[in-house]
Amino acid sequence: MDFLTLFAIYVVVVVTCIVLVCKYSGQQQTPFSILLNSVGKVIAPITPKWLQNLSQRTLHRLFHQRNNMFIYLHILLEVAVYAEFTYEVFGFCREMDTTLISLSVPYILLLIKSVFFYLCIKRDPGTVTKKKVAGQIHVYPYDRKLFHPGTTCPTCQLLKPARSKHCRVCNRCVQRFDHHCVWVNNCIGAQNTRYFLLYLFSVCAMAGDIAVLTADMLLHAVLRSGLMMASYIDEYGDKQLAGLMFVVQHLFLTFPRVVFMLGFLVFVFFLLAGYALFHFYLAVVNQTSNEWYKSRGYVCQHCHPGTGTADDPRHPAPDHSKRYYYSRGVLRNIREIFLPPQPGHKKDK
Ligand SMILES: [Zn+2]
Ligand SMILES: [Zn+2]
Repeated sequence: MDFLTLFAIYVVVVVTCIVLVCKYSGQQQTPFSILLNSVGKVIAPITPKWLQNLSQRTLHRLFHQRNNMFIYLHILLEVAVYAEFTYEVFGFCREMDTTLISLSVPYILLLIKSVFFYLCIKRDPGTVTKKKVAGQIHVYPYDRKLFHPGTTCPTCQLLKPARSKHCRVCNRCVQRFDHHCVWVNNCIGAQNTRYFLLYLFSVCAMAGDIAVLTADMLLHAVLRSGLMMASYIDEYGDKQLAGLMFVVQHLFLTFPRVVFMLGFLVFVFFLLAGYALFHFYLAVVNQTSNEWYKSRGYVCQHCHPGTGTADDPRHPAPDHSKRYYYSRGVLRNIREIFLPPQPGHKKDK
């Protein structure tokens, strides 16, 4: 198997894993957990009881409870990329006179990203609690499409504020619930969406910057080697220019780890940039991922227009002409992400 095939397989595996994780993060039934459950059932008769209990507990912890597995995986990938960058790319770039300032940018971005990453993990996303629920209920009006007044969470036994949702992984209701993110092992809600957005953009900047520096290094390596001008004698005895594919294969063989890292970074960058832009768009229109998904498959069955609520300023009659019910203009929507309304203060509509 030649190097290009191997690299293509590697890229497909990495992309598939990332897509699966993004698609199913926070969901209860992932294809992986279904597969593991099925395998578990088949081998159950020949497995000792203690091993069955242990594996069940482990699976439960991995997929149905908060756990730090993806945080560790995240740190591991980051350590691998930064170790490779420092070990091979940094020295080479110094030799070709890249300034120390340019080379220190990835480390500064790492520091910034780590702060937002930590805040995403540690900051309470806006848990609905017995003590706070009376204030949280007034933060947003009910749109009577996705959120209806007087609904109680069957698990928490608390009234559900508009835009909140019960997270089954964390077992709590969260105000302005967006989604449960396995990479930060926390829900993304009213109080930490800002950190999540900044975290996404800083990871993109990190991946993009290291990718550019690495590509620059490889370009210099090619130019320095003179390979672009090189030629070879083919099987018919004719002189042929080496060409781009020859150069790419040469790079794979000379800097295998650097090329693998660059491939990984480019995919991570485009994947995360798309995801970050989607979340930025949601911030601009004042919608959560939860609302975005629900509103796309929404069938207006529970709505009762004209139920006489227009005189109640806290619960205005639903406005069906408005696509984004909670939107208050781009600037105010973005301000709401960075300065989320606090429970107890009724937000103007
Ligand atoms: Zn709940
Ligand atoms: Zn959660």
